[in-house]
Amino acid sequence: MNAPAKSLKGLDLKAEIDKLRKERNAVILAHYYQTPDIQDLADFVGDSLDLSAKAAATDADVIAFCGVRFMAEVAKILSPDKTVILPDMNAGCSLEDSCPPEEFAKFRAAHPDHIALTYINCSAAVKAHSDIIVTSSSAEKILAQLPMDQKIIFAPDKNLGAWFNRKTGRDMLLWPGACIVHEAFSETELLKLKAQYPDAPIAAHPECPAFILDHADEVGSTRAILDFALKSDAETIIVATEPHIIHQMQKAAPHKLFIGAPGADGNCNCNMCPYMAMNTMEKLYVALRDMEPRIELDEATRIAAKKPLDRMLEMAGRTVGKGDLGGR
Ligand code: SF4
Repeated sequence: MNAPAKSLKGLDLKAEIDKLRKERNAVILAHYYQTPDIQDLADFVGDSLDLSAKAAATDADVIAFCGVRFMAEVAKILSPDKTVILPDMNAGCSLEDSCPPEEFAKFRAAHPDHIALTYINCSAAVKAHSDIIVTSSSAEKILAQLPMDQKIIFAPDKNLGAWFNRKTGRDMLLWPGACIVHEAFSETELLKLKAQYPDAPIAAHPECPAFILDHADEVGSTRAILDFALKSDAETIIVATEPHIIHQMQKAAPHKLFIGAPGADGNCNCNMCPYMAMNTMEKLYVALRDMEPRIELDEATRIAAKKPLDRMLEMAGRTVGKGDLGGR
């Protein structure tokens, strides 16, 4: 059981986390969608797969993953001998929730002539039922290696699948899942913002629906959006993904203005991921102190889930622990 929050009063959380990081020989990972305080104390900040690969290449005994559960599972799949802790085990993902493993297995059985290309945003159990895992940055390269007449199920993100269908001319069968954050952007509010900043390019994540992507100057993974924002000559950039990524943009280019794309009423918080927000400095401290909650995977599931991940790495020409693997 985690300690009650009141016992943490008066603690210098950053100093305590640093102390525990050393004592536990832990590496702290922060996804780009975490709050700035967590990003700033992490050993690595990045996309999910890239983070897990970087952690696997360290000699740390413990991985503290400030992200969501499926990301921490990937860390465990790649680093079975390390203890992986997640500050809040309830930090899930609407894409993972949309695709229960039993239903996915039934869907696959109903389409025996299809292979399953599955986005990394899913549970280890769904990965175990998949043929190839993809990230938003590796999917196109992997699709280019599959025959055009190959029948494919793409799960669980229908928007991402539709984007790759459009880009590659395929007709993949799409699982009807979606990210609640990227679905929350409003086309009307985006166009109002664009009218205010007509010279600002729009960079969007392909988890957004087509009505947002149609207005984008750049569509790519979180990492690709970050790179675009930094390389662009534009002084103002509209960012259509979870807005905590703007922290890294602002740090690298403080002279530029980065504006998060608006949700339905123009100023709601619906474009912030509620699952990512479950991780806090307090919970990270408690997790390192108590060494829980831990990610545990049975070995059969871990090995079965690793197979399609390895397939992706092989087809994308990438190796765990070396260079940027790309991410969601
Ligand atoms: S932003 Fe969307 S895809 Fe990412 S963790 Fe949150 S709900 Fe899942």
